[in-house]
Amino acid sequence: MAYLLQQLLSKSAKKYPGKEAVWGRGRSITYRELDERSNQLAHLLRKQGVSKGDRVGLFFPKCVESVISMLAVLKAGGVYVPVDPQAPADRVGYIIGNCGIRVLITDHEMRQLLSPKTLAIVDCCVSTDQAENGHSSMIPWSQLAEFPADHAPNVPSIETDLAYILYTSGSTGKPKGVMVTHRNALTFVEWCAEEFQVHSQDRLSNHAPLHFDLSVFDVYNALEAGATVYLITEELSLFPTSLAAFIQEKEITIWYSVPSALTLLLLHARLTPEKLGSIRTILFAGEVLPMKYLRQLAEIAPKADLYNLYGPTETNVCTYYKVERERLAGMEKLPIGIACANTEAFAVTDDGRIAGVGESGELHVRGPAVTYGYWADVEKTRKMVVPNHFQENFEEKMYRTGDLVTLNEDGNFYFQGRRDSMIKSRGYRIELGEIESALLSHPGVKEAAVLAIPDEVVGNRIRAVVSLNVPDSLKPLDLQQHCSAKVPKYMLPELIELCEELPKTSTGKIDRDRLKEAAAALPMA
Ligand code: AMP
Repeated sequence: MAYLLQQLLSKSAKKYPGKEAVWGRGRSITYRELDERSNQLAHLLRKQGVSKGDRVGLFFPKCVESVISMLAVLKAGGVYVPVDPQAPADRVGYIIGNCGIRVLITDHEMRQLLSPKTLAIVDCCVSTDQAENGHSSMIPWSQLAEFPADHAPNVPSIETDLAYILYTSGSTGKPKGVMVTHRNALTFVEWCAEEFQVHSQDRLSNHAPLHFDLSVFDVYNALEAGATVYLITEELSLFPTSLAAFIQEKEITIWYSVPSALTLLLLHARLTPEKLGSIRTILFAGEVLPMKYLRQLAEIAPKADLYNLYGPTETNVCTYYKVERERLAGMEKLPIGIACANTEAFAVTDDGRIAGVGESGELHVRGPAVTYGYWADVEKTRKMVVPNHFQENFEEKMYRTGDLVTLNEDGNFYFQGRRDSMIKSRGYRIELGEIESALLSHPGVKEAAVLAIPDEVVGNRIRAVVSLNVPDSLKPLDLQQHCSAKVPKYMLPELIELCEELPKTSTGKIDRDRLKEAAAALPMA
C-alpha cells in the first residue's frame, strides 16, 4: 500500500516501464522516463536548497513537464503549488508570496510576466524549456542530465506531510491556499481505484487545470493503475468540436470534467455514440449538471457508467452518485449521493442536530480526506475546520462545507445550494466578495455589488452594479480593465452597470435581491 503519492509512480514504473504514462502537447513519456526525470529534477531541487516542507511553484502551461515536476517536488520532500498560468500577475505574485515559494518551475515566456517584486521572493527559477534560451538567471532543464536518474533523494516523508497546496477564490479579496496531505489525496485516489476499477489499459483524459482538484484523479489514478493520462491543453478545451475529435482519436476510456464542459460538448460538438464509443466511465463534479443534459449524455453514451461526484477542494470528492439509468426518466433532481469509502458525511441542522431522513442542513465531512486548513490563515481555518462536537471522547476535526443538503428517503444527499456567496461558473469556484474587493480597490469606486445570475449552460453568469465617487468619471470598460489585473478571466463580470447609488434594504445594507432581480431581467451578453 502506498502512503506517499510518489509511490504510485514507483510501483507502476517497475511494473510497466515501457508503457506510456503521460501524453501532452503531442509528446509522451513512458513510466521509466517519468520516474527517471522526476528523480533527476528532485535531486536538482535538493541541490537548490529545497528541503522538507518547502513550497515549489509550478507556473507554466500544462504539459508533460507538469507531471514530472509534481512528482519531483514530492520526491524532494517539498510541497508543490500549481499556479494558474492564466491568472493576472498580481494574483500570481500574491500566491508566491503567501506561501513563500522558494523555487519556481516555469518557462521563459511565463517568467517574463512576473514583476521584479515577485521574482525577488523566490530563490531561483528552473526552466522547463527544452531548448536553451540563453537566459542566465534560470536553471536550464538540460541540467537534469547531471543528476542521478536511478534513485530519488532520500527524504523521510510521511503520509501526514503536505503534498500540495491548491489556491481557490477567497471571500475577503485574496485567494486562499487549501493544504492537502499525501493521506488526504490518497484517501480519494484509493476510493477511486476501487470504485472505477481503473486498469493499465485505461486512457484517462485530464480536462481540468492542474490547480483544480479534479486533476488529482486524472493524474494519480492513472499512475496508480499504470494507465495513460492525456493532458488537454487550455487551448483545446475551448473548442468543443476539436475536443470531441481528441476523445475519439485518443480513445479515451475515462472522462472527468466539470458539468459545463460536458454541456458545451453536448451543445456544440455534434456528438454521436460513435464519437464517444471508447468511453466506459464519465465522471463529473464541481457544480450541478441539469437533468436535461444528463439525459442527453446518457443517450449519447449508452454504455458508459455516469457518476455525479461532489466535494470541495478541502475534502476532494466526498460523496458520489452512480446514475441509475432506469431511474432517469422520472428523476427530477440529481442526487449527490452517499459518502465515499473512508469518509463520513452528515448534514447538521440549524439547531445543531445531525439531520435525519427528510431533513436539511449544512453538510459536514470527517475522515482522513479532510484538509488541515488554509495556508497561513488560522482564522479562516478555525471557521471551516471545526471540532467535531458529536465526538465526545476524543478531539477530532470536521469540515463545514457551507453547502446545504437534504437527506432523502432513498438514502442520498441532494444539493440545495450554498449558505454564503460562493458560486460556481463554468465549474470554477468563485467568491463574489473577491470580485467586489477587486472593484472596490479602484479609487473611483464608491460601492460595488457582484451578482450571480443562474444559467443552465455555465452554472452562473456574473454581473456587477457599481456606483462611483464622481458620477460619469469612469466607464464600465475602465472597470473591466482594472479587474482583469486583479482576478482571473473566469471571474470577470460579463456586464458592469453604473448607477448613482446602490439600492438599500431597511437596515441600510445593499439590497442584493433587488439588484439580482433587475440584473436577471437584462438580456444575456
Ligand atoms: P471546488 O472546491 O472548486 O471543488 O468547489 C466546491 C463546491 O462546488 C462545493 O462546495 C459545492 O458548492 C460545489 N459542488 C461540487 N460538486 C458538486 C456537485 N456534484 N453538485 C453540486 N455542487 C457541487
